[in-house]
Amino acid sequence: MMAVNMERFVSEAKGNGLRALREIKAGEVIHSCEPYAFCIAKDFLKTACQSCLKRGESLSRCSQCKTARYCSAQCQKQAWPDHKRECKYLKRLQPRIPTDSVRLVARIIFKLLSQSESDQEELYSIVEHQSHLADMSEEKKEGLRHLCTTLQVYLGEENHDLSQLPPGLDPISLLARVTCNCFSISDGELQDVGVGLYPSMPLLTHDCQPNCVMIFEGKRLTLRAVRLIRPCEEVQHIKRRLSSFLIELLKESQALLHRYTDVVPDRNALTLLLYYSDPHPSRAVELLRVGKLQHYQGRLEEAQGSFTQAYDIMKVTHGTAHALTNEVSRKLSECQAELGRV
Ligand SMILES: [Zn+2]
Ligand SMILES: [Zn+2]
Ligand SMILES: [Zn+2]
Repeated sequence: MMAVNMERFVSEAKGNGLRALREIKAGEVIHSCEPYAFCIAKDFLKTACQSCLKRGESLSRCSQCKTARYCSAQCQKQAWPDHKRECKYLKRLQPRIPTDSVRLVARIIFKLLSQSESDQEELYSIVEHQSHLADMSEEKKEGLRHLCTTLQVYLGEENHDLSQLPPGLDPISLLARVTCNCFSISDGELQDVGVGLYPSMPLLTHDCQPNCVMIFEGKRLTLRAVRLIRPCEEVQHIKRRLSSFLIELLKESQALLHRYTDVVPDRNALTLLLYYSDPHPSRAVELLRVGKLQHYQGRLEEAQGSFTQAYDIMKVTHGTAHALTNEVSRKLSECQAELGRV
C-alpha cells in the first residue's frame, strides 16, 4: 500500500473532511485507489472495455451475456471476478439492460455478500456513507423505489440473499448511498465512461480554489496536488457542480471544433474556454485538442506552443506516467521534428 498522506478529520463547522498529514508539493500524488465497485455507463457499454475502460469499435463480447465487452483476453480474465455473478443476471434480462445505478448497486451487493474484500482499509466505509434518505423529497424517494423494483427484477430468484446484507445496507439505502456518493469515471477526453464507488472519496470537500485534482487512469482514481499543501491543511477538490458544468462546456466546444475543423477558431471564444483555475486538467485536455487542430492545419509553431502548455499542466495534474501526458509529449516531439525539417 502507498504511503498515507492524508487522514480523516471532523471539523465542527463543516463535518467530515480530509487533511494532509505532511507537506505535499504541487504535482505529487496525494492518494490513489481502485473502486470498491464500478460499472460502465450505459451509453458506453458497446464501446468501452469493461476492464480497462479503453474505448474502441472492435471489442470482443462476453459469449454468455453478450453485454460485457473487452479489448483483450487479458482484460476479460481480469474482469471476471467482478463480472461472474452479474453475467447470468444480464443474460437472463437480455435484451434489457438495467440502468447504471442498478448495475452498480448489484455489483456492490455481490461484493458485500461474498465478503472476499472489505472496505476496512478505507478512511470512510460504505456503512458510514450518508444516504440522505431522511431529508429526501417524496418524489426522489419514489424514484428510488422504482430503481429498487428494477434491482429486484434484475436479481430475480437470488433476492433472498438480500437479507444477508450488513445491517442498514438494504437495497433502498444502498441505492440512496450510491446516488449521493459515487463518482463519474471520466476518460482522457473527459467523457464519463463509467461510474464508481470509491469509499474514502465522499470525504473530499469542495472549494472554488481547490488544492487537488481528480484524475482517472482506467478506473483507478488519483488525487494530485496542484499547489503546495501544508500539514493539516484540508484537501479540497473543485466544486462538483462547477466541474460537470465545465465538462458540458468542453463537450460543446469539442463539437464546435470538430464541426469547423478547417476553420481558424475564434480566438476570443478559445480564450474564454481556456480560462479555468490554473492548472486545471480540463484546460490541459483542451490545449491538447487545440494543439492537434493547429498541428492538423500545419500551424506548427502554435501547435508546439499549445502542446508545451498542455505538457506543463499535465506534469502536475496527470503526472509524467499518465497515458495522456505521454500522448502530449509524443505530439510535441512530432512538432519539434517537423519544425526542424521545415
Ligand atoms: Zn481492456
Ligand atoms: Zn457476461
Ligand atoms: Zn458536493
